[in-house]
Amino acid sequence: MTKLFLNRKIKLSTVLTSLVASSVIFTTIILLVASYQSQRESLIDAYLNLNYSKANKMSRSVDSLFQSMRMSLEEIATYVSTHQEMTDDDIQEQLELLRNNSRFFNSIAFVDETGLIRSIAPLSVGLKGHVLKTGVSKEVLDSQEPSLTTPYIAPSGRLILLMSQPLYDSEGNHRGMIGGTIYLHERNVLSEILGNDFIDENGSYYYVVGPEGKLLFHPKNKRVGEDVTANAIVKKVLNGQSGMDRAVNTKGVSMLAAYSTVPEIGWGVVQQTPIAHINDLLASHIKSLILHILVPFLFILILCIFIARRLAKPFFELANHVNQLGSEKEVVQPKNKSHWNREADLLTKSVILAMEGIKEKNLKLTYEATTDPLTNIPNRRKLTEVMEAWEEEGRVFSLVAIDIDSFKLINDTFGHQAGDEVLVFLVNTIKSSIRKTDLLFRYGGEEFVLLLPYTVTSEAFQISEKLRTKIEKTISPVGKAITVSLGISEYPSHTNSIKQVFVLADNALYHSKLNGRNQTTVWSKEITAQKKK
Ligand code: GH3
Ligand code: MG
Ligand code: MG
Repeated sequence: MTKLFLNRKIKLSTVLTSLVASSVIFTTIILLVASYQSQRESLIDAYLNLNYSKANKMSRSVDSLFQSMRMSLEEIATYVSTHQEMTDDDIQEQLELLRNNSRFFNSIAFVDETGLIRSIAPLSVGLKGHVLKTGVSKEVLDSQEPSLTTPYIAPSGRLILLMSQPLYDSEGNHRGMIGGTIYLHERNVLSEILGNDFIDENGSYYYVVGPEGKLLFHPKNKRVGEDVTANAIVKKVLNGQSGMDRAVNTKGVSMLAAYSTVPEIGWGVVQQTPIAHINDLLASHIKSLILHILVPFLFILILCIFIARRLAKPFFELANHVNQLGSEKEVVQPKNKSHWNREADLLTKSVILAMEGIKEKNLKLTYEATTDPLTNIPNRRKLTEVMEAWEEEGRVFSLVAIDIDSFKLINDTFGHQAGDEVLVFLVNTIKSSIRKTDLLFRYGGEEFVLLLPYTVTSEAFQISEKLRTKIEKTISPVGKAITVSLGISEYPSHTNSIKQVFVLADNALYHSKLNGRNQTTVWSKEITAQKKK
């Protein structure tokens, strides 16, 4: 497995393409992450600030609301204490008027110093004539102080807040109180003033807590009255702090919360937005970002891949060309085109030069390996090659073996140098009298071979004789004519083995030598038979 992996080479174009693709992809991812982070931070900041200003506004509203409520209670208390002649029914009328005009209180009552409810609006509450003996309202009455209670359960079973204003006559005697109530679980001044759209489209909402950490107002009305002192934000706001923070609400939901106190009454207003909303905004932001960058991203990617491939192409082609050098196949030169990339251009030119050099050297080596250096004609190796090629194409041909007679004597008499000159002379003589298509080889020593294509023995014999007689009549470099003996065989009529063709011609040549030299013999079965004896 590992070996397989190691042996697998990766293409340059693949490396470049992956490099480019991965850098574009990583850059995009980094861009997206950075944009996500900064967008998140600024959204969180924006929401915290927005919530803070909402909470502040809300606390000011609550503050001025309670001041107005207080003033209305003070007004009516003063009115009642300065109009002692008023009957309970008159007071009742005044209370009704106040309740209907201001809508501050769900109910409003005049209680005398003994705890007797003298007047109450609306009458439907049914407590007129009722005497307060115990409970929060009795304590408030007895305190003889203006007060605003925390939520408590009234004798009617309702969860209420009571705001009271004591009454004094002209002598300064305590004459009871005017008490206004807010029914926390019903439609009340808070829900009227603070609005009914408690939760906006962002999931933002606010709630109001009383000084003892009980909810006075909450979008989920059922929760009003619930003790939320455990909430960290509530703790801060009840400590008189105002500010903003990331927090987890009592239900375990992460929130961006801003809080503001209502110092007059010790209440706190908290405005908060779930972080999930920010995440939703971010998700749609990233989605639209991706949609926007997708087309240019793909364009850049394709462009880069295109350029990478163009860049790698010349190297790829050169590598393939150079790779052919080791194979048997004929090497194709790379095209000599110029490249816009400097390295590719230089490398292509160098490789072309190098390959031309190698080709030339190869040609030279092949020539040297198949050529006789003395006479400059093909040697025995080339003879074999040509015969094999002819055999393959099924060509008919005659082979003439030629050997100089008593050459040893020439060497001995005139020297080796002169012998060489005789060899060159003989080659030139033969070349000048054969056809263009005939091929002459030096088989070795002073023995030569002629290949006569498409030639049968009778014709070959005539050519050989003509040649022989010409040689015997021509003066050689040693000052006299030399003679040669010849033997002929024909392929494939004498033998269908290439190796045998020469052997048979050589047998015929041997026969010429035995018969007195300077003659031509065509091979026949008898000749071989004779030789064997
Ligand atoms: P035969 O008529 O029987 O062929 O007699 P021969 O003397 O020609 O034959 P032999 O085989 O006895 O001698 C061949 C001589 O050819 C021997 C060798 O010195 C000479 N020889 C072979 N190659 C060369 C060469 O390249 N140059 C020269 N000068 N002599 C060569
Ligand atoms: Mg000889
Ligand atoms: Mg010989």
